[in-house]
Amino acid sequence: MELKLTEEELAFRDQVRQLLNEELTPQIIAGNKKSTTALGNNEAAMAWQEVLNKRGWAGVAWPKEFGGTGWSSNQRYIFNSECEKAGAPKLIPLGLRMLAPVIFKYGTKEQQDYYLPKMLSAEHYWCQGYSEPGSGSDLASLKTRAERDGDYYVVNGTKIWTTNAHYADHIFCLVRTDQEVKPQAGISFLLIEMNTPGISVEPIITMAGDHEVNQVFFDNVRVPITNIVGPENDGWKVAKYLLEFERGGSSVATRLQVDIAELNLILQKVEGEIPLKKRAKEIDIKISALSQMETDMQSKIARGEKPGAGSSLMKIMASSLGQEISTLKMEAISNYNLPHNNLLLIQNEETIGEKEHETISAGYLNERASTVFGGAKEVQKNIIAKSVLGL
Ligand SMILES: Cc1cc2nc3c(=O)[nH]c(=O)nc-3n(C[C@H](O)[C@H](O)[C@H](O)COP(=O)(O)OP(=O)(O)OC[C@H]3O[C@@H](n4cnc5c(N)ncnc54)[C@H](O)[C@@H]3O)c2cc1C
Repeated sequence: MELKLTEEELAFRDQVRQLLNEELTPQIIAGNKKSTTALGNNEAAMAWQEVLNKRGWAGVAWPKEFGGTGWSSNQRYIFNSECEKAGAPKLIPLGLRMLAPVIFKYGTKEQQDYYLPKMLSAEHYWCQGYSEPGSGSDLASLKTRAERDGDYYVVNGTKIWTTNAHYADHIFCLVRTDQEVKPQAGISFLLIEMNTPGISVEPIITMAGDHEVNQVFFDNVRVPITNIVGPENDGWKVAKYLLEFERGGSSVATRLQVDIAELNLILQKVEGEIPLKKRAKEIDIKISALSQMETDMQSKIARGEKPGAGSSLMKIMASSLGQEISTLKMEAISNYNLPHNNLLLIQNEETIGEKEHETISAGYLNERASTVFGGAKEVQKNIIAKSVLGL
């Protein structure tokens, strides 16, 4: 999508380009390219967050009152697309884009003052403790329990698929604080320091060869009762609010535009593959539609409205388009996708085929998860059926 920019917006775009020219180093760009995981290379993301935070730009979508940029939706669009085009890493969303809106809305003044600045500076690194073995789509059936003992909750149980828990020093967790009521009514939202005695993290290696997800175990973990967000047993409302930001409210279209440009470059070299080029064009058109929806959604959020079920629609579109692009890339490089290159090969050995194609296979495999994480595609369709179509 091409925005018609005002004079002020053109000046803003120049400022963004200047920052990218001056501060986005070849090392950060190269680090970013090394990873095919959903959240990208952690070191590169942290280095980029440090740069942005110094400039006061780490809270891209945050209101000014909490230390954010206070940018308009057009400014955010300009910023995100310039960053994507320049090869900048994505900022890790777990704190900045997922937990932060929850703290703005449900956090106490003390929680806002303590946690938000440390999110911007990356002094705190968050992970998300929602899913459990047997409680993914049916999240309300979660069993990790937190029992009151004086001024503490004592937490026991386990969380699974916890992205980047091996980097995190904090986890936001859904815990069961009442066993007697209907499942949704007995859940609370708790903030926990990962170095609290009784917490352990076990890696899960994906089929793409990445260490991205983990299982986290809680064994009599003592958490101050002041670490609860929102009232006790009212965490389900808080949890759902966060999920709307996890599923929507970002700028996936700008990344997809870069992905499709990469695909088109590969296709230029493939003689006579007209069906692939036609499919790429169709995807490109759908990305333009998604881009428009994202800009509308960001304006809605900026007006203080909730993302709502539109975020489920955008999640389905963004994840399906990402999968289609990665599938086309695999088809385009043809037999060079087998045996598949993975991150271990990238780091240790010569790759097979062209150098710039070395992450295509791992990217394809990793992209399969995008219609599962953040809530499976079928579950998003159920949400749309219920809240939009009234079925
Ligand atoms: C890469 C990755 C990263 C993740 N990161 C995190 C994280 O950081 N923190 C976290 O808490 N969780 C995380 N998750 C977990 C993710 O949220 C769950 O995998 C997801 O909610 C699905 O749950 P499940 O895996 O238990 O599958 P299930 O719920 O068992 O679903 C299995 C299949 O059944 C279908 N299905 C289930 N219920 C219905 C229904 N009612 N109607 C129709 N179809 C249905 C699903 O669509 C799916 O295809 C991550 C997952 C992945 C893959």
